[in-house]
Amino acid sequence: MNTFAPPVQRLVTELSKLPGVGNRTAQRLAFHILRASAEDATALSDAIREVKERIVLCEVCFNLADEPRCRICQDPRRDHGAICVVEEPSDVIPMERTHEYDGVYHVLGGALSPIDGVDPDDQRIDELYARVAGVEGQPPVREVVLATNPTTTGEATALHIAEELRRRSPGLTVTKLASGLPVGADLEYADEVTLGKAFAGRRSV
Ligand SMILES: [Zn+2]
Repeated sequence: MNTFAPPVQRLVTELSKLPGVGNRTAQRLAFHILRASAEDATALSDAIREVKERIVLCEVCFNLADEPRCRICQDPRRDHGAICVVEEPSDVIPMERTHEYDGVYHVLGGALSPIDGVDPDDQRIDELYARVAGVEGQPPVREVVLATNPTTTGEATALHIAEELRRRSPGLTVTKLASGLPVGADLEYADEVTLGKAFAGRRSV
C-alpha cells in the first residue's frame, strides 16, 4: 500500500522518471511542490506543457526550435558554409558555450550502432548529405565538423559520415574534433575549455 494520497504518489512517480532523480529525491521535490504557491506550481506545469506543445525540430538542422527554423539557422551572422554535426540537440549547447564556433549545425538525432541494429536510415544523415550537396539560396558548404560523442557509437558514426562525404564531395573539408575529450562521455558533459580546445585542434579526416 502506498503511504501517500494517490495524487501525491502520482507526482512522485512522474518525478522519479526524470534522469538522476531517485525515489527519495522525487519525494523531496514533490513535497517542495506541495509547499509552493499555486502560482509557482502552475508555472512549472505550464512550462512543461509549453515546451511539449511549442517546441519543434528545425526544418534545416533538426535542432530545437519554436519556429520552422531555429535561431541559429535564421541568423545571417552565422557562417552557413560550415556545418557542425552533433548527435543530439543538447550537444549544441556546449558547442555554443565554447564561443569558438560560428557556423551552423546538423543534429543527427542519435548515433549509429550496428550492434543495436541502428542503421543510417534512422538518423538524419541523408538530410546532411542533401545540405552538403547544396541548397538553393544558401552559400556552398566548405567544411563539415564531426562532433559526435567520443563513444564507440559516436566514433563509428563519424567514420561512416566522413567516408560517405569524401566519396560524394571530394572538395569538401571534413574535420573531426581533436581527441582530449573524456572518452566514453557525452559532449554535453564536456567543459567549454576542453571542448573549445578540441574544436580549435580539429583535424581533417
Ligand atoms: Zn536550425
